[in-house]
Amino acid sequence: MKQIDKKAAEVLRSGFRGTVLLPHDEEYDAARRVWNAMFDRRPAVIARCLGTRDVSRAISFAREHGLLLSVRGGGHNSAGTAVCDGGMMLDLSLMRRVTVDPGTRTARADGGALLGDLDAETQLHGLAVPAGVVSHTGVGGLTLGGGFGWISRKHGLSVDNLLRVELVTADGERLEADEKTNEDLFWALRGGGGNFGVVTSFTFRCAEIGKHVYSGLLVKRFEDAGRFLAFYRDYVRGLPDEMTVWVIVRCAPPLPFLSADVHGKLVVIVAFVWLGDPGQGERRIRPLRDATPSHGEAVGANGWCDWQSSFDGLSSHGARNYWKSHHLGDLTDRAIERVVEFAASMPTDECEIFVPHMEGAPSRVEPEATAYAHRRAPFVLNIHTRWREARDDERCTAWARDFHSATEPFARGVYVNFLGDEGQDRVRAAYTPEVWSRLVGVKKKYDPENFFRMNQNIPPS
Ligand code: FAD
Repeated sequence: MKQIDKKAAEVLRSGFRGTVLLPHDEEYDAARRVWNAMFDRRPAVIARCLGTRDVSRAISFAREHGLLLSVRGGGHNSAGTAVCDGGMMLDLSLMRRVTVDPGTRTARADGGALLGDLDAETQLHGLAVPAGVVSHTGVGGLTLGGGFGWISRKHGLSVDNLLRVELVTADGERLEADEKTNEDLFWALRGGGGNFGVVTSFTFRCAEIGKHVYSGLLVKRFEDAGRFLAFYRDYVRGLPDEMTVWVIVRCAPPLPFLSADVHGKLVVIVAFVWLGDPGQGERRIRPLRDATPSHGEAVGANGWCDWQSSFDGLSSHGARNYWKSHHLGDLTDRAIERVVEFAASMPTDECEIFVPHMEGAPSRVEPEATAYAHRRAPFVLNIHTRWREARDDERCTAWARDFHSATEPFARGVYVNFLGDEGQDRVRAAYTPEVWSRLVGVKKKYDPENFFRMNQNIPPS
């Protein structure tokens, strides 16, 4: 493992506004930790940047010392790419400022901001940026891969609302990119991940959603899972963009509206958000309620920030996680059978099978308008395997791999942000061949030496 001696560290520290941590420093162990406890890596140095100049200096330092560089936004990526062994972890977690201009309905977020930071500031004005569903996810990694959440069917992906970025390239240069400036780079950053530079700020268009949304959970019996999933497939056809319904098969958490005997039992959780009049929302959910019997439900007008953090507890930091995913061409009866079959053999009660319905505003954007390519697939199938002890690694990952292979016949591409360390072919599967070759061209132009390679890598050749 490479080591950075004290003298070299002093050079980096001098004039650095953030913090430089070496392995013997007290904060080092906490700083190297990422969301997925499967990754226990030890960088030679952690550069916790405070501002664009720090980012530029850290990049130059890593290059001079021949260090592999990993970039940490929110540290959430299940593939653990935010942290490396023996190189530099460029950590953006001190850069979380968000400013909102209610006049232009835009928000500017620093490169290390979390979704909760973005929601907190935009909500002061009844605004929101379409992004993910767990508040401690990073705006950085999520946006660079695409970014979808509860209001995406109506308002688009995060990248569809991205107006401008500031970033630092592999040679330490500060650049801006938008539709008119470095357009090729701006196109690639909207889905191509962290391959092109370190983004220090994102400027988004915001949607006016108000401060409450009619939303909630209906918890259905697992015995009816097959029937309910078939109903769900048909229910979402032609559903207005204002309504988003997602299904999660898992063991019931101890939700207060469920009776104690349901806690820990396999169930089908139906989660929804309706952007509109609550009375109309109530009418919209009736068919969901009636489709199969429910164990219980909690439905009503929820504060947006509360709703956006309501799944945080189930996705807390510190567990071991292994994710497999693909987009589905359709939720066929055969695919449903596989879901029900594998659900019944879930290896732990923290695992989840997540089946979001995706069609809407994102699918009406041309597939090559941004680097996020698979816009037309109606569903995603995510296998979230989660457990606590290293001794269960093999058992849990084998279940996910088998499940994934069994559903491969129904796959239509994959979302780059849900990939693990699955090799080059799988990264390519996140893009169409046209998008891939264009991404390779942009990579060659902005990072010809593949300095940014600790990611879902797009090699320059
Ligand atoms: P990190 O691990 O910090 O970063 C991942 C990679 O992104 C880094 O290796 C780096 O290459 C790059 N990166 C991050 N920030 C920057 C930056 N500022 N500049 C340059 N490169 C950067 N995705 C959705 O679309 N919708 C969801 O609802 C959703 N929910 C999720 C819930 C959970 C519990 C988890 C674990 C993930 C979820 N995701 C979701 C996937 C998420 O988008 C990815 O895991 C994403 O990579 C997380 O970004 P991060 O900044 O937190 O991750």
